[in-house]
Amino acid sequence: CERLQRIRRHVRLVPDFPSPGVLFRDISPLLKDPDAFKAAIDLLETHLRATCPRVDYIAGLDARGFLFGPPLAQRLGIGFVPIRKKGKLPGPTESVSYALEYGQAELEIQSDAVEPGKKVVLVDDLLATGGTMCAACELMKRLKAEVLECLVVIELLSLKGAEKLQPFRRHSLLQYD
Ligand code: 5GP
Repeated sequence: CERLQRIRRHVRLVPDFPSPGVLFRDISPLLKDPDAFKAAIDLLETHLRATCPRVDYIAGLDARGFLFGPPLAQRLGIGFVPIRKKGKLPGPTESVSYALEYGQAELEIQSDAVEPGKKVVLVDDLLATGGTMCAACELMKRLKAEVLECLVVIELLSLKGAEKLQPFRRHSLLQYD
């Protein structure tokens, strides 16, 4: 698909970021190119319309899930909910701590962000070990919401995030080894 190739051409490889030995996939060039960015949102939208026609909310993961989630939610005519790093959200929250590809972190959601029984698609830029996405799934469980799918632009296959995410459904536009 030509659109996928355009997206792929706008993902930049940065060695040794944020720490030595890590090969970082930088999506800044993708955001900077309006055609490539549109192609990504188009493909995510087409996918969700086909697979999750009854989704109630898009929940985006801090921070790059905030770049893809809101335009996607607008296309679908549904609401966007932020899942943030610890300490950023006012009012009552639920929180889950998790292991990162590099380090330890904690994710939070406002307790009233998603009503019990609502159907949610989780969105982020990239799936690596799956720790972040798993924590987001756990937050949805705490709120008694249903995760229809975990959706990312990029999946790093060798880090086996897919295994960690089971039994949740998942989809990625681009896959790298
Ligand atoms: P995981 O928890 O799956 O190991 O890591 C995924 C999370 O870390 C995502 O929120 C993602 O934004 C960030 N991340 C990890 N590695 C990369 C990378 O190479 N490129 C980008 N853009 N984000 C990454």
